[in-house]
Amino acid sequence: MLIVGLTGGIGAGKSTVAELLSFHGAAVVDVDALGREIIAPGGSAVEPVVERFGDHLRGPDGGIDRPALAAIVFNDPSELAALNEISHPAINDLLDERIETIAAKGVADVVVLDMAVLVESALGRDTRFPYEVVVTVEAPPDVRLQRLTGRGMTADDAKARLASQATDDQRREVSNFVIGNGGGTDELADAARQLWDALRNLADERAA
Ligand code: ADP
Repeated sequence: MLIVGLTGGIGAGKSTVAELLSFHGAAVVDVDALGREIIAPGGSAVEPVVERFGDHLRGPDGGIDRPALAAIVFNDPSELAALNEISHPAINDLLDERIETIAAKGVADVVVLDMAVLVESALGRDTRFPYEVVVTVEAPPDVRLQRLTGRGMTADDAKARLASQATDDQRREVSNFVIGNGGGTDELADAARQLWDALRNLADERAA
């Protein structure tokens, strides 16, 4: 299997590309969703987070109260680093489990890890199945802002999120493929098909 890290700034269209690749036959793992799963009721990071940040973070359902946790870590880089030290290994463990399940089923030659924080972390790298190819989806900041406010985010929140992430240059530096998504959905579908062909070729070369 070829493991692909798919990233991009918020609003660039990363999840849309993941969906298109899944349509072509890739198995997609939503790594951002794994981050929510580990602190949901019964998640492996619940107890370590409570231990580090306090019992008041345990919500009524037994999972972590995410807004309360966000209020602590998003105003303090050292607290965020402490959370990442707990959460990233837990996410990577879950990621390994998911990839193992996909491998056992034998349903896909290409596994796409849909992840916002590829450049900024060791997610998807410090694992038993690290990604071998990186794809970045890009769109101009004004287009991304427009998309984000279009899906209900306030302009201030959208700008803050854009500013907190890695830059396109940083993502480009580690990318094997860059998909421009400043245009329409038809153009994106074409680009995704070409990307799929290239990924399939890589997967086939590896299998040969
Ligand atoms: P990301 O995962 O990078 O944050 P999404 O794939 O969720 O971005 O896309 C953000 C929003 O923009 C979604 O509502 C999506 O449907 C829309 N979108 C993505 N690509 C295009 C495009 N080429 N044209 C118009 N809207 C798009």
